[in-house]
Amino acid sequence: MTAPKDAPPADAAAADLAAGLAARLRAGERRALARAITLAESTRPDHRATATALLERLGGTGDALRVGLSGAPGVGKSTFIEGLGMGLIARGLRVAVLAVDPSSARTGGSILGDKTRMDRLSREPRAFIRPSPSGGSLGGVARRTREAVALCEAAGFDVVLVETVGVGQSEFMVAEMTDVFALLLSPGGGDELQGVKRGVMEIADLILVNKADGDMADVARRTCADYAGALRLLRRRPHDPEGWPRAATVSALTEAGVMAAWDEIAALDAARRARGWRAKRRASQAAQAFRRELEEGLKSAFRADPQVAALLPDIERAVLSGALAPEIAAARALDAFLRR
Ligand code: GDP
Repeated sequence: MTAPKDAPPADAAAADLAAGLAARLRAGERRALARAITLAESTRPDHRATATALLERLGGTGDALRVGLSGAPGVGKSTFIEGLGMGLIARGLRVAVLAVDPSSARTGGSILGDKTRMDRLSREPRAFIRPSPSGGSLGGVARRTREAVALCEAAGFDVVLVETVGVGQSEFMVAEMTDVFALLLSPGGGDELQGVKRGVMEIADLILVNKADGDMADVARRTCADYAGALRLLRRRPHDPEGWPRAATVSALTEAGVMAAWDEIAALDAARRARGWRAKRRASQAAQAFRRELEEGLKSAFRADPQVAALLPDIERAVLSGALAPEIAAARALDAFLRR
């Protein structure tokens, strides 16, 4: 085992467990993957230790295409993913779907996870579907999702889809952990109606106007043209080939255009890889995640510090009463923490 000889038993146990799980994961066992993600999502220190040992042991294995997909509730995300997933499986690929639902962190209820979603896909042995981790801050959800992506990749999945509802900052978080980011929209309605934030348009590589079928086909085509026009006004990304980002229509229901959308995504990824851009993007994503983790770690160490906890109420009272300037108060609290 990799644990040093003098390691405390807990670490040795974590390393043992991690070694066993790593072997099963690399063999593509879905139950091992589910277990590994559960460990990574857990707040129990021994679970976290095992998850960390596992991720270390797995290193950077696997080479999945990571795709982010966002859209408002009801736009057709699960219908689209089910069609896409089945199509990818028919092409001989293995597909993992991870959901990120920031609403469950805040309210305990979930927009994405409550109903039974992706019925057909969930019965496929070549698919793996994982609902959103609930509870905790967005930062916590980001870390757990990032780890889940790494675990799916190590388990040999060819495609990892990270799905999110467009709530708060979750689209940005998902774009920061994927190679290609697609936005699903409904026909008709302006950006405001669809809750599309300006910044989200700017991070989208592909805008898909869904429900382009039946009565809505024409509206969908017009909406798509509107978005294509809006995208042309955005600054072109120097690393992307001509014509990106782009917009297309799909019907998740009839599955028209779904695999064509996938071919677009794969083509963009191939172009970026050929230019070394995928690796660069992943490297800068890793650097950013590292800085975030560091900041989060410092914050929680600060909050957990007993000396700080003993001092903080008095300092805060002094700030409230005006006896102490906020800057001086913060400096004092930090000083108490850093001196230890
Ligand atoms: P989600 O909340 O974004 O996951 O949306 P769902 O996939 O659950 O779809 C919401 C509703 O829209 C369901 O009733 C779907 O049947 C319907 N829907 C999804 N995609 C399409 C489509 O391409 N065309 C039509 N007409 N309806 C669709």
